[in-house]
Amino acid sequence: MQPRDLSDHAPYVPGRGTEEVARELGLDPENLTKLSSNENPFGPSPKAVEAVRETASDIDVYPTTSHADLTEKLAEKWNLAPEQVWVSAGADGALDYLARAMLEPSDRILTPTPGFSYYGMSARYHHGEVAEYELTADNDFAQTPETVLEFYDGERIVYLTTPHNPTGSEFSRKDIREIAESVDDDTLVVVDEAYGEYSERPSSIDLLDQYDNIAVTRTFSKAYGIAGLRIGWAAVPEAWGDTYARVNTPFAANEVACRAALAALDDAEHVEKTVETAAWAREYLHDNLDAPTYESAGNFVLAEVGDASAVAEASQREGVIIRDCSSFGLPTCVRISCGTKAGTKKAVEVLNSILTEVAEA
Ligand SMILES: *Cc1c(COP(=O)(O)O)cnc(C)c1O
Repeated sequence: MQPRDLSDHAPYVPGRGTEEVARELGLDPENLTKLSSNENPFGPSPKAVEAVRETASDIDVYPTTSHADLTEKLAEKWNLAPEQVWVSAGADGALDYLARAMLEPSDRILTPTPGFSYYGMSARYHHGEVAEYELTADNDFAQTPETVLEFYDGERIVYLTTPHNPTGSEFSRKDIREIAESVDDDTLVVVDEAYGEYSERPSSIDLLDQYDNIAVTRTFSKAYGIAGLRIGWAAVPEAWGDTYARVNTPFAANEVACRAALAALDDAEHVEKTVETAAWAREYLHDNLDAPTYESAGNFVLAEVGDASAVAEASQREGVIIRDCSSFGLPTCVRISCGTKAGTKKAVEVLNSILTEVAEA
């Protein structure tokens, strides 16, 4: 007995974890700087940690109230109706719900390449098919309506990532409007704002007032620092009414995650410090890394280093874990997450010495 034919389903390739690398290389995890998964280098908000502790004794019940409270709070913050807020297990969960809500078997979606692999994976789970639009290094991975529309052929969902992972490039708000206006009536434009907090551009969430074909995904994994709890959400068109109730896995997000997210939303200071430090780190990486870097609006910088696998491996041996972008189809690039000031400086020092060695070898 076998599962269905999954040969089209490429497994997700995550950034490497501290424990994993420490075990493999016999290093102390304490001495590793992990800049491979765009997590928050300051960890979670202390308020979220406190909420997790307090919730520990309540995990015997289903998360009815906390789920509703989080939905309500997000709706209020973003000026949405509660039905427009789809809380989920990570933004990845929201991507699944959107695919579930939209796709009939064989419907096509359009995703960026290079790009976040989960869009395509999620569509395939839901019996959809995947087409791609290309971002290219020769124009710094620019994201424009032309980039997308040149490849657009009536797909049911078009995914826009802004800031884009792994390149850091952005769409302007005008561009997003233009795309939403140019696609067919039954095409949903999903704007993935996983890194929205780091960008100086405004969110597209308020466009939902004017457009009935835009959804926006957001996460607590990055700027809010609670990736381990898996909590995110989508803002969906007003007209969808009770669709969430029809597609969601019951109690999509867990009690601890909902409580932590509620607390994290009350800690503006933590997000501010995180965003400011990321901006500093981006500049530091651009200015000091001995390799060409691409302009980034996220909490990471993409750099051209030649042999990305070799550089990422050497860097890891020196205690700095970065992301080899070969699995994104960029075998000459590494992605370095923004660390603390100390962590970012260490990464630059380690990488520069590796790049010198490679150049001299
Ligand atoms: C990290 C990330 C997400 C979502 O992550 P979750 O942990 O599932 O919330 C979504 N899109 C992109 C582009 C990301 O990098």
